[in-house]
Amino acid sequence: TAPVSVAISARMAERPENPGLPRSPGLPDRAFAHDGQITKRRIRALTLAALAPRNGELLWDIGAGSGSVSVEWCLAGGRSFAIEQHPDRAANIRANAAAFGVDHRLAVIAGAAPDALATLPRPEAVFIGGGGNEALLHALWLATPPGTRLVANAVTLETEALLALWHGAKGGELIRIELAEATPLGRMRGWTAWRPVVQWSVTR
Ligand code: SAH
Repeated sequence: TAPVSVAISARMAERPENPGLPRSPGLPDRAFAHDGQITKRRIRALTLAALAPRNGELLWDIGAGSGSVSVEWCLAGGRSFAIEQHPDRAANIRANAAAFGVDHRLAVIAGAAPDALATLPRPEAVFIGGGGNEALLHALWLATPPGTRLVANAVTLETEALLALWHGAKGGELIRIELAEATPLGRMRGWTAWRPVVQWSVTR
């Protein structure tokens, strides 16, 4: 698929003698059309590692934003329903799926979870990147069969508290991802802390 990889390589400003996409998750944010609501590449790489895609598996990507998680899931061989309530972002997801050549495996559901999930085929994995609340978690617990892998990211205290409660009740792994980046500090450099992200992974 030469035209696709050339177009995306140009957006990623890769060296022309090294065309094509890197094989590992955590592609640069600028490779995706987005409005700022995107799971940043380092967090995305950890999220894909937790979701653990296998060939042919189905993902529900809830609050899909730019669709970056769905795109990387599909690039790893999976199929995805990207559920997004914001119409402009649903359009971004379609554009990104086409640009990465995965639009035959990535379907956009323009609507709000949990209602929008009712008619979808059962997934092997679910990612909650937005809209994570008590009602959604209950609905997912009922809608998914045992063995389903569930990963939820929280950036707010409210969602973090919810994930801590569910981790206590259901088990799984709860981690806090705290990263910092070196940035200019006068004529020297210092660490700028990123907002912590709390991630709960559990097998249903
Ligand atoms: N993982 C995404 C970023 C998610 S931002 C990416 O990498 O691009 C969170 C998104 O969740 C926002 O776009 C918001 O519109 C969406 N959202 C919030 N609640 C939702 C709900 N109940 N149903 C569907 N989408 C929802």
